[in-house]
Amino acid sequence: MGQTAVQAVNLPRPEPARPQRLTRRQALACGATGFATLATRSSASWFRDLFPFGASRDAPAEIFKGDAPDDTTWELWQRRGWVREAAHYLKHDRNVQCKVCPNNCLLAPGDRSHCRNKVNRDGVLYTMAYGNPCTFHIDPVEKKPLFHFLPGSRTFSLATSGCVFRCLNCQNWEISQKKPEETKSAAGAELRFRPPVPATLTADDMARLSLFPDDVAAVAVALRCPSVSYTYAEPTAFYEYTADSCRAVRDRGLKNIIVTCGSIEERALRELAPFVDAAHVDLKGFSDDIYWKLNSGRLQPILRTLEIYRELGVWFEIINLVVPGYTDDLDGIRRMCGWLVEHLGPDRPLHFSRFHPQHRLEHLPATPVQVLIEARAIARSAGLHYVYIGNVPGLAGAGDTLCPQCGRTIAMRDIYAVTRLELDDGRCRHCRTPIAGVWV
Ligand code: SF4
Ligand SMILES: [Zn+2]
Repeated sequence: MGQTAVQAVNLPRPEPARPQRLTRRQALACGATGFATLATRSSASWFRDLFPFGASRDAPAEIFKGDAPDDTTWELWQRRGWVREAAHYLKHDRNVQCKVCPNNCLLAPGDRSHCRNKVNRDGVLYTMAYGNPCTFHIDPVEKKPLFHFLPGSRTFSLATSGCVFRCLNCQNWEISQKKPEETKSAAGAELRFRPPVPATLTADDMARLSLFPDDVAAVAVALRCPSVSYTYAEPTAFYEYTADSCRAVRDRGLKNIIVTCGSIEERALRELAPFVDAAHVDLKGFSDDIYWKLNSGRLQPILRTLEIYRELGVWFEIINLVVPGYTDDLDGIRRMCGWLVEHLGPDRPLHFSRFHPQHRLEHLPATPVQVLIEARAIARSAGLHYVYIGNVPGLAGAGDTLCPQCGRTIAMRDIYAVTRLELDDGRCRHCRTPIAGVWV
């Protein structure tokens, strides 16, 4: 956490369309014409195509019925290059189903998706979040947070609107819970952001600015950032833009960082992962019930994402926001840490983060610091080697890395600044033990 988008632009906001939660019965009815198309196949096979991972049967997809943009807006956005045919979707006659995340949005023509970024236009699924970030910044990589990846480096960080979740505590709801037309405007002259980069941008510039994948890479090079981060909102919700940018960035010899809730379908993840150098994954709790209530998501897809990243050898770190009354149960934290050690090994960094009242949880108190200290003790006694506490400025040792072999402090951090680093070639300077991470 600690990821705040400070440059979200404010445009006139149209009245949001009323979302409709599709029941499974309605979803199936929506796909009825698709069923006719696939009539030669067994109904079980058709059902598996619609819900191949099972959990999607209970998907929380909110579909914004009839909320696709009007013809004038669509033409403007097309001309600007901000709409692309979506990746990973199924056609059922004129209905379409996105397969990028477990929400598996099923859209009739004219509908908008749960993440607000995708629409069914004449039987084709399009993303409207392409080449049109609503915010970008240069951040220290420690802000993601990633403590074991290119320490002290800067990362060019960007986001579009939209999210696959509905977290009650969202820090960046002003972009994550907006549709693209609420954060960007295709009216006026085109403005492409690319080198030489201007020193300043106005809110109006940001609203109409394009930043296409090749330009993302070129800008990061010009700004001397060794990596690009897809962050602030949820890169799964702007999957196509993320995937194309990752390829362009890799082509320029830079690295890609995904900051994600981890709720993504396996096929989409496996296609993206070869271009990902590091991921920060939110493990928001260890109870499916709490995931549903707090985030509108499910636990199992997140655990699967963590295991896939491990299997593929992508460096990743885990963050767990401790929210009073939701995820501060120490028994739950103990079970979570046990799972992490068993399934991911002891070297996976875990960041406990302090909750501060915001968005729909403004009535809650901040997490007591003592709870975070106890959570850290539980994680260490479970066997995790690298455990941190975030969002508590001034707490001694909160961001320190201890050598798991000799116990010496080998890295010290003051919020996002690395103040001491006693590593040589990724090894503890004192006892030469390799320290897990990507150091150069
Ligand atoms: S990425 Fe968006 S459109 Fe696709 S399934 Fe997830 S929420 Fe729905
Ligand atoms: Zn050591």
